[in-house]
Amino acid sequence: MSHDPIETAVLGLIRTQDPQVAAIIEAEQARQATTIELIASENHVSPAVKHAIGSCLTNKYAEGYPGARYYGGCIHHDEIEHLAQERACKLFGCTHANVQPHSGAQANMAVFMALLAPGDSFCSLLLKDGGHLSHGMKINFSGKYFNPVHYPLHADPASPDFETIDYDAVRAVCMEHKPKLLLCGYSAYPRTIDFARFREIADECGALLMADIAHIAGLVAAGVHPSPFPHAHIVTTTTHKTLRGPRGGLIMTNDDDLVKKINRALFPGIQGGPLMHTIGAKAVAFGEALEPAFRAYQMQTIANAEALAAALTGLGYRITSGGTDNHLMLVDLQPRSADLTGTDAELWLEAAGIITNKNGIPNDPRPPRITSGLRLGTPAVTTRGMKPEQMNDIAQLIDRVITAGLESPETLACVTKEVRADVTNLCQIHSLP
Ligand SMILES: *Cc1c(COP(=O)(O)O)cnc(C)c1O
Repeated sequence: MSHDPIETAVLGLIRTQDPQVAAIIEAEQARQATTIELIASENHVSPAVKHAIGSCLTNKYAEGYPGARYYGGCIHHDEIEHLAQERACKLFGCTHANVQPHSGAQANMAVFMALLAPGDSFCSLLLKDGGHLSHGMKINFSGKYFNPVHYPLHADPASPDFETIDYDAVRAVCMEHKPKLLLCGYSAYPRTIDFARFREIADECGALLMADIAHIAGLVAAGVHPSPFPHAHIVTTTTHKTLRGPRGGLIMTNDDDLVKKINRALFPGIQGGPLMHTIGAKAVAFGEALEPAFRAYQMQTIANAEALAAALTGLGYRITSGGTDNHLMLVDLQPRSADLTGTDAELWLEAAGIITNKNGIPNDPRPPRITSGLRLGTPAVTTRGMKPEQMNDIAQLIDRVITAGLESPETLACVTKEVRADVTNLCQIHSLP
C-alpha cells in the first residue's frame, strides 16, 4: 500500500512480533492513502521526518537543556537539540528557540506560567470566533487559572471587514482591562494577521505581545504570510500543521530575559524529559522548510485554498469573511440549506472519503457539537501534489454529497458510493509522500 519502502519493511517487522498492532497501523495507512484530507491542521510528513521519529533518539532521558542536562550520555542529544534550535532560529528569524514543548498547548502553557501569575489577565479571541482552547476557554488551564478577556470580530454584515479582527475593539478591550499579555494567532481564522498593529496596541496598554502561529507557521517560515517578528515578544507554534513536521510545539523569542523565564517554566515547570526523537524529527522538518521547494509548496497551498473557496462560492456556499488569505476557510453551510448542519456534512463527507471537521462560524446559531459550518484546509492535499484543477473537482464532489444528503437517505447512499470511487481514483493519481 505504502509508497515508502522503509515503512513497509518496518510494518513487516512489527507484524512478526505484534500482528494486532500492525493490522491497525496498516488500516490507518490505507485510510490515509485513499481519503482526501481537508482538515486544516493536518498534513502528511516526509519519510525522513517520519523515520526520525522512529529512531533510537527515543531511548534517552535528556532532562535539562543542551550542555546542562540532568543525565549522562547526552552528547548526541545535545547535538541534535542544538541543530533543531539553530534551524528554527534561521527559519523564523529570531535569536532563541525552545524546541522541547510536547505540543502547541504545552508551549502556550509554558508562556503563561512564565509571564503570568494566577488570576492575571490576558486578552485573546474566543474559540467560537476562531481562537484556541488554550487561549482562555473556561474548561482549559488558561481559563481556569488566569483571567481571560476577549476581543471580538467585526460584527456588521454590511462592513467590508465583516468577520475579521476588529483592531479598534482590540484596543478598546485592552485599554479597559490592561491585560499583561495580548494574544494573537488562531485556529480558524482565514485572514492575514497584522502583527505590527497588535504590537502598537500591546505597547499602548502595557502588555507583552504573544503570537501563536500554530496554524500559519509554514506560511510564515516560507515568507508567504508576514512574520510575527520583530513585533511579537514571544512566538509559539506547533510543528505539525502547515510546517509539516512531527507533532510538537516550539517557543521563540528575541528577548534574552524572557527566554530564561520561558525555559524554566517549560522545564522543570511543566514538563519532564523532552521527546528527543521528536526533536530529531523537528530538526529534519526545519531543514526541509529551509529549502526553496518549501516556499513553492506554501504558495501552492494558498493558491489551492483560494481555488477551493472560489469553487464552493460558485456552488452556493458562503465563505466567512468573503474568502481566504491563507491555507484555510470556514464554509457557512446555511445558504445551501437552513437545515444543513456541520455535523451532518462532516459525517456524509467522511463516508465518501472526504475528511473535514465541523466548525462553528462567527455568531453561529448552533452549539459547538452541531455547528453550521465546516473548516477546510489545503496543506495535506497540496502535499499530495494537487492543484487548483483538483480543488475544483473536490468542490464538486463535496457539493454532490451534500446535495444528495439533503435529498434523501437513498440518494445519499447511492452518491456516496460514486463519490467514494472518484476520491479513491484522485488519491491514486496523487499519492502520499
Ligand atoms: C493547534 C493549535 C494549538 C495546539 O496544538 P496542540 O499540539 O494540539 O496542543 C495551539 N494554538 C493554536 C492556535 C492552534 O491552532
